[in-house]
Amino acid sequence: MRQDAAKALEELFSEAEKDGIDIYAISGYRSYDRQEYIFTSKVMERGIYVANQTSAKPGESEHQTGLAMDVSSPSVNFQLTQYYGHTREGKWLVENVPKHGFIIRYPEGKEYITGYNYEPWHIRYVGKNAAEFIMNENITLEEYLGKV
Ligand SMILES: [Zn+2]
Repeated sequence: MRQDAAKALEELFSEAEKDGIDIYAISGYRSYDRQEYIFTSKVMERGIYVANQTSAKPGESEHQTGLAMDVSSPSVNFQLTQYYGHTREGKWLVENVPKHGFIIRYPEGKEYITGYNYEPWHIRYVGKNAAEFIMNENITLEEYLGKV
C-alpha cells in the first residue's frame, strides 16, 4: 500500500482492536501478473461477462493503485463474501472507515454506477474529507468525482 494509506489502515486496525473488532488485511497491492492470473482464471471458470463484473481486468484493479485493501474476519473464515456486510465487523467498517479516510468502494445498490458487484470487504483510501462526504451522502467515488 502507499504510505499515507498504509498509515491510515494501521490506525483503522488499532481502533478496531480497541472496539473488540477482529479484522485482518487479506490482500492489498497485487502485481500485474497476479491480477492477470486472477482475471484469466475467472474467465475460464465463469465466462467473460461474470469475470468483468467481479474482477478487474489486468491493469485496472484498484489494488494496483496501492490505495485499496480487502479485509475480512474469522467470523466468515476470512472469506471475501457479501455476507460480510451483515456481520458485526462489516457493519463496524461502514461506521468507522470514513474517519480514517477510507470508503466501502463498491456499495450495495450502486452496481450500475461502479460496474462492480457489492464488495463489503473492499476499502479504498480517498482521504478523510472525501471519505466522510462520500459515506455520509451514500454516494460512490464516481459520483463524488463527477464522472456520472
Ligand atoms: Zn478488493
